[in-house]
Amino acid sequence: MRTISPKPNSLMPAIAICLMAISILLLNCYPLDTKSKHTIYALKYGESYYPAKLIHTTLQASRVKINWLAYLVKDSRAGLTLIDCGFSDANWVRRFQLWNFKAVDQILADMGVQPNDVDTIILTHTHFDHAMDVDKYPRAKVYLHKVEAENPQEPLVAKRLQAVRRSHRLVTIKSPTTLASGLELIPVSGHTPGSLVVKLQIESKLAVFTGDECYSAAACRAKIPLPVVSAYSRANNQAFIESLAGVEAIFAGHEPDLQNGQWLTPWVFRYESLF
Ligand SMILES: [Zn+2]
Ligand SMILES: [Zn+2]
Repeated sequence: MRTISPKPNSLMPAIAICLMAISILLLNCYPLDTKSKHTIYALKYGESYYPAKLIHTTLQASRVKINWLAYLVKDSRAGLTLIDCGFSDANWVRRFQLWNFKAVDQILADMGVQPNDVDTIILTHTHFDHAMDVDKYPRAKVYLHKVEAENPQEPLVAKRLQAVRRSHRLVTIKSPTTLASGLELIPVSGHTPGSLVVKLQIESKLAVFTGDECYSAAACRAKIPLPVVSAYSRANNQAFIESLAGVEAIFAGHEPDLQNGQWLTPWVFRYESLF
């Protein structure tokens, strides 16, 4: 008896349709994860007292306790971003009488992050405590405002930035700029001529990394501007503070009171339930 088997080619359209149907079914059941997931850490590299008259504060005291912070944003797609990178010069640690000091690269090493793993560094401004260790990360692209790159606030930072510039990793901005990680750099020029803040919008919620435009979230929530001595433009600082109404999370450069998360070590605070 002779059986009639279909020619192989005649099966192809049917197979293709079946595969397409299965794909559509799978995509509906398991939608592709196209959104970035951000994890935010505060890296507290030291603590100190600081004259209250130099920072804006809600406290009535001659000196206040502050933290010295950098922030790490881990993005599931765009990698690791440091927002500011601290300093490790022993003379400056002594001069500002920091205690519990640990350099940011050491804190990162404890987290299993090596200097080569850092993809991006954003400098909110070029004061030593935010920018001096910028040359410790050989692969990182470094973003900062053009004005700060051309006229750094500290000679020592200028020297370190020169090394970054020579290796073609320096990127300067003059207007709002969004990076692949979703982090958006916004020039403010309140604290220094080229100070910037970093915004992160996740759906309807907004977080802002303020650098020294805010020394603490509470002071900015209370709309207290920087004192004259710490401001390049009080008007710009004031306008920025006014713009924070409705912002979900304020990550300040010297935040004394870290909330909405947990300390993983004495130096690492992981934020939770923000988004
Ligand atoms: Zn500063
Ligand atoms: Zn600072």
